[in-house]
Amino acid sequence: MTQHSGSCHCGNVRYEADLDLSVPVIECNCSYCLRNWFLLSFIPESKFSLLSGKEELTEYRFNKKVISHLFCRTCGVQCFGEGTSADGAKTVAVNVRTLENIDLSTIVRQPYDGKSQ
Ligand SMILES: [Zn+2]
Repeated sequence: MTQHSGSCHCGNVRYEADLDLSVPVIECNCSYCLRNWFLLSFIPESKFSLLSGKEELTEYRFNKKVISHLFCRTCGVQCFGEGTSADGAKTVAVNVRTLENIDLSTIVRQPYDGKSQ
């Protein structure tokens, strides 16, 4: 695990997250992830801290409405979403495209067929 910093485009939303980017990130093909080009890393809530912008977040839910998609109301960028894993633990899905100082070409992607879920 390494601590990474990230932000939305306008900088209102800033966060830190402990991530292991040697683990493949999820590239989901559902109608929402596809449109947003998300690359997601899932971590326990305890490994995520929102540093600023809580009041800037707008929530979007769709389909089963179990995932809280949170995007910046000013620039529209979604840094993360919140949900619950199969075992009931609070989980944060970090959009690794919003991390600072990472080389996306080194990150291994694992396709996930969210479209069929
Ligand atoms: Zn923003």
